[in-house]
Amino acid sequence: MSILSYRSFLTPLTSFDPIFIMKRILPMAALFILLLNIVIAQTKPLLQLKYEENYTPTYEEVIEMYSLLDRNYENATLIKKGQTDSGKPLHLFIINNSSEFSPEKIKSKGKSVLLINNGIHPGEPAGIDASLWYADDLLRNKDGMAEILKNTVIIIIPVYSIGGHLNRSAYNRSGQTTPFETGFRGNAKNLDLNRDFTKCDSENAKSFSKIFAEWDPDMFLDTHTTNGSDHQYSVTLIPPSPDLFPPIMEKFIRESFIPTIYSEMGKGEYDLIPYVSFIFRDPKLGINMTQEGPRYSSGYASMFHSYGMMTESHIYKDYADRVKSCYQFIKALAKFSAENSNEIINSRKKGIKESMVAIKYPIEFKLDTTIYQMIEFKGYETDENQISPVSGLKRFGYDHSKPYSNRIRYFDTWEPISFEMVPEFYILPQSYQNVIERMDLVGVDYTKLPNDTTIEVTVNYIDEFSSPPRPYNGHYFHNEVSTHTEVQEVKYYKGDLLIPVRQEKIKYLIEMLEPKARDSFFRWNFFDNILDQREYFSSYGFEENALKYLNEHPDFKAEFLKKRESDQEFANSHRAQLSYIYNNTEWAEKTLRRYPVGKIY
Ligand SMILES: [Zn+2]
Repeated sequence: MSILSYRSFLTPLTSFDPIFIMKRILPMAALFILLLNIVIAQTKPLLQLKYEENYTPTYEEVIEMYSLLDRNYENATLIKKGQTDSGKPLHLFIINNSSEFSPEKIKSKGKSVLLINNGIHPGEPAGIDASLWYADDLLRNKDGMAEILKNTVIIIIPVYSIGGHLNRSAYNRSGQTTPFETGFRGNAKNLDLNRDFTKCDSENAKSFSKIFAEWDPDMFLDTHTTNGSDHQYSVTLIPPSPDLFPPIMEKFIRESFIPTIYSEMGKGEYDLIPYVSFIFRDPKLGINMTQEGPRYSSGYASMFHSYGMMTESHIYKDYADRVKSCYQFIKALAKFSAENSNEIINSRKKGIKESMVAIKYPIEFKLDTTIYQMIEFKGYETDENQISPVSGLKRFGYDHSKPYSNRIRYFDTWEPISFEMVPEFYILPQSYQNVIERMDLVGVDYTKLPNDTTIEVTVNYIDEFSSPPRPYNGHYFHNEVSTHTEVQEVKYYKGDLLIPVRQEKIKYLIEMLEPKARDSFFRWNFFDNILDQREYFSSYGFEENALKYLNEHPDFKAEFLKKRESDQEFANSHRAQLSYIYNNTEWAEKTLRRYPVGKIY
């Protein structure tokens, strides 16, 4: 496909239309308006997408197509917004119903904001094509689609992993045969960007954080493609996980968003079902709602009380069906966003208030396998004995000659299983600039201590932690973390950060600063420097100080001698005795394993 110029995919910008001219000279104003509407409705698409031919556009083609829309429509603009690891800028394409593109001004009109992110996994490009197609149709007001722009503004990230998208090949995605060529999952820095939203190792994620803070989208969609299982649906949905939200937003998701979006999709060519995540081998036995942590796009959105979700197009369907079903979903979501803009905006405002007065915050969840609802599911029978055409041996698969439609269980409740009490303040030493930089990106409010001072705070000590033997996305992520707390007088310095917790970014603060929260800065190695000792003692060098200490502290000395009398092994070990003195007195390093973010309750 490389010999094809991307310009061949674009239709001419303008054409002379004699019928249009004739209609313009008709004298009656009312008729003029009527006919003009017909002309507008008949405007042809500007873009010629080639998904029917299993072709998805290159990065340059995508940007050229959005530029073309930008040049042709006053109410749309393509802007550069921050850097990416590839050295190429991240773009935003904004569609409003006027040429106003400032977030503050648009929001002041009470409009909801829908942000759509594409190509985070460039091997999954259905959303790239679908968004281009949708933008084109929306701008030409196909079938009155532009009506939604009265209440909502649409923002599209054309391609998020630009580096990955540029790395194009037919061999990037072993489970799919179409489109013929796609980009690669790793970005320009070989990062999986859908694991990078909190740690922000990529310039892409840093730019995204700023965009998210600036636009504060009410609804957020990240488009993906999956090969997780086989069934009859072209598109599936990971909805905003209700249990991650405060009660009013949870209610809105369960009672308004989820039923409406499934019902709206049911009116179109492509049905929607939840993403087929199953706890048993066969989806027939039940599927569960996915709950994603903050490292993922949808979980990231939930930290900011934004209704974030992911579509997962289905890899085993024709590429055209993947694109068309994704288009249908975007259209349904934009319609929902417009028709419910007041409820969406108000539920978020109230939800933020609910979060801000919370006493405790859930940091760990478990799928509740006792609560479920029955949903319709069109699957294929599984077959443990399919014969592989490659190896000639038996393998597991799905039998497309045996479709079925069943009622299956859908487990949609995640039970919180551990909580943290919400502090009033965090105190973060200024030495953690990499953490401060990330908090600045999302717009956390804080003040700086005006003087050096000693403050009584609650601190966490890291008792146990585990890390994998090999790095995961550039880090030795701490899977298991246990802590205990102590109240201590801790020295802080002029310029250290005093962060009020009860602010709009409360969920972000707790998720990132509580060490046990599932994608905390601690887990992602931002505080590993506290995990090993800085001082120690030598068997002979400590002798003089140890003896002096015993003589100056008779109570401790008595305790020490008592232990020596009752513990033979201890009595016989010089090292153990010095170690006892070192570790149970002021000599012990208070900072060892002491998590440096202090808390004031
Ligand atoms: Zn993906």
